[in-house]
Amino acid sequence: METVSRRHFLYGSAAFLTYAASAQAFWPFADRSGPAGAAEDIRGKVFKGDAPPKLWKWSHEGFLYKKLKGDKVVCGICPNHCLLAPGDRSACRSKVNLDGTLYSLTYGNPCSVNTDPIEKKPLYHFKPQTKAFSLATAGCNFRCLNCQNWEISQAKPHEVRHYELFPEDAVQAAQRAGAESIAYTYSEPITFFEYMLATARLAKAKGLHNLWISNGYINRKPLLELCNVLDGANVNLKSFEDAIYRKLNGGRLEPVLNTFRTLHERRVHFEMTNLVVPGYVDDEDMVKRMCAWILTNLGPDYPLHFLRFFPRYKLDRLPPTPVSTLTRFRELARQEGIHYVYVGNVPEHEGNNTYCHQCQKLLIERQGYFIASYHLDGGGLCKFCRAPIPGVWRAHDDQQGPSSSSSS
Ligand code: SF4
Repeated sequence: METVSRRHFLYGSAAFLTYAASAQAFWPFADRSGPAGAAEDIRGKVFKGDAPPKLWKWSHEGFLYKKLKGDKVVCGICPNHCLLAPGDRSACRSKVNLDGTLYSLTYGNPCSVNTDPIEKKPLYHFKPQTKAFSLATAGCNFRCLNCQNWEISQAKPHEVRHYELFPEDAVQAAQRAGAESIAYTYSEPITFFEYMLATARLAKAKGLHNLWISNGYINRKPLLELCNVLDGANVNLKSFEDAIYRKLNGGRLEPVLNTFRTLHERRVHFEMTNLVVPGYVDDEDMVKRMCAWILTNLGPDYPLHFLRFFPRYKLDRLPPTPVSTLTRFRELARQEGIHYVYVGNVPEHEGNNTYCHQCQKLLIERQGYFIASYHLDGGGLCKFCRAPIPGVWRAHDDQQGPSSSSSS
């Protein structure tokens, strides 16, 4: 384990992991479970007797848990409901039971810290071209076979190099970095809920936005608490079949759908991301059912991103998603009635751009994480037909946005 002082943190670089395209050997898809088999269902699979003997300085009592007989505790943050006897460590690796009290071990010790363009989250309808100060600690409540950040998500807090950055330090660092937002991201922020919530409350008080980039596998009560200080979210909708969720991610679908319902009910701006994993999540019927559910329960206006998969972690023998599949899914979702559908991880694809749902003109032209042309007014109106575009837009965009007159 290595810690980095506050001062050194400022000069440190984050271990943000980007997708790495590689042309690897393909494997036949006859068996849809793939060569890696199924993800582990981690409900109930805690690490027995794995808690450290005493707390460290980045410990904080759990936000929501129940005490049971025999000094056992049950965590109430996510649907895994870890039941921990004294000395046990949680399935997400970041919580422990010491003498009948539940503690988070990830309070102020992020292992990844970076300042990103907000487009990288991806968030395309939230303050474009602003900076998001981004944090992650070790741990995750899923076991995705395709995890892009497995080195930190599938690690215990003491196993990774980390910074010391308590909530007030994180807010100050975000301000110094010129960020308008703090993003809780990279690994799974649900597993550092206590740190996220404390930081988000302070950030909100200082006029920063809070962004939650998550698998959405959280219980309603903590989510409602988070919604009080949340401004935007990108939540993964990893597939639209419970069986695939179990096989690919080690989780379940319904709690994630409930998260979307709650965000919608609480009027938090969110965008949805679906990573199109060949052989697992590349079924047109599933996309149609997903869109039907979105339209019925959430309406047509929340942006939907189809992301290209690249071989990674336990699915390192799969090919990248064919671009033609992503193009087809985007067309399909638009035909079904979703207004804003994007393709991600494919440079120069027209699915990187925003087109007005009403007049179809080009509103935001993106080149990677940068904006080449911008045609929204300060109030978030299409400059061509005056249709309101859903999202949280920069004030005075008509003055500040890059000027260009091009349109589709
Ligand atoms: S947040 Fe972690 S400790 Fe709590 S129930 Fe989920 S996996 Fe278990």
